[in-house]
Amino acid sequence: MKRLLQRALEVKLDHLDNYVHLRGLIEYGNVCEKNCLYCGLRSGNDRVARYCLSDEEVLSCARLAHELGYGSVALQSGERSDPAFIDKIEQLVREIKKIDGGSLGITLSLGEQSEETYRRWFEAGAHRYLLRIESSTEELYYQIHPKNGRHDFHRRLECLETLKRLGYQTGTGVMVGLPGQTLDHLTDDLLFFKRMDVAMVGLGPYIPHPDTPLWRLRDRIPSASERMDLTLKMIAILRIMMPEINMVAATANQTVDPQGREKAIAAGANVIMPNLTPGEYRESYFIYPDKACVKDRPDQCKNCLDIRLAAIGHKILYNAWGDSLAFTKKK
Ligand code: SAH
Ligand code: SF4
Repeated sequence: MKRLLQRALEVKLDHLDNYVHLRGLIEYGNVCEKNCLYCGLRSGNDRVARYCLSDEEVLSCARLAHELGYGSVALQSGERSDPAFIDKIEQLVREIKKIDGGSLGITLSLGEQSEETYRRWFEAGAHRYLLRIESSTEELYYQIHPKNGRHDFHRRLECLETLKRLGYQTGTGVMVGLPGQTLDHLTDDLLFFKRMDVAMVGLGPYIPHPDTPLWRLRDRIPSASERMDLTLKMIAILRIMMPEINMVAATANQTVDPQGREKAIAAGANVIMPNLTPGEYRESYFIYPDKACVKDRPDQCKNCLDIRLAAIGHKILYNAWGDSLAFTKKK
């Protein structure tokens, strides 16, 4: 493992240098039409207080991202497909683009949508989209999602194809350490990322949530440290396979290991998404328990990241979009 991580770091430094890109994460809302069996935002969970940020709250987060020099924001939420939501996101993307003449890059992570919706958001100014496949094995996908029209493996694949065709830098990813997940599944996931030729990948350990159906299988998953190690191996192998993609060091890494995000960066990841969601809403964006940094203020977060990354020989590239080199080169 030591040699694998060492090699992955060498490959990353050769291709991408020691820069880390930031996306200020805005958790727009936790209303969700889906019912994924692992996630605390699932529609069937009535133990979470639902919220949606106001326009002004979103825009002040974006202005803060700009002031802090983050260069990009990522807007994420539960999945909604109602016209009011679609219009609102389009309008917010346009407003964010007006900040300092379009200096902020915009990543969206708002689930499965129609081609028309993706196109509208792209034309409004969003240029990156994250939609994890969660598992590239159809059988496992249906073990972690209810099998109904709302959760359709093939629709998710089609969404990824559509996003690519529309010109988004498209990102996907999986959770690592799911009940029923084998090393063969994870190997297939890596080959899937390569075959799909994606621009970005986000990988993170699965974290059991008590108010979800998968909680009852929590004894059948690897331990937290095993899930962390598996995630690091996935990141490292993928960095060697796809040297120029952007790879996120997911916050979930830090939940299973206090140094998880730095370890992910040292294993080959090059993007971090510091949370900018206003404090009072953070605990309601309860995707999984014990989320790291929930109580940190954005300025504390920035200092903390600078120090932690310097300690492992990396530095943040401020005031830049930090696009995926794999994508920009192809273009
Ligand atoms: N609704 C959107 C975006 C929000 S969810 C979507 O589903 O695409 C963002 C990610 O959180 C999901 O893709 C999933 O991989 C991750 N997630 C959800 N529940 C989790 C859990 N219990 N442990 C770890 N990651 C989880
Ligand atoms: Fe909703 Fe996304 Fe959570 Fe699934 S993973 S329940 S789509 S927020």
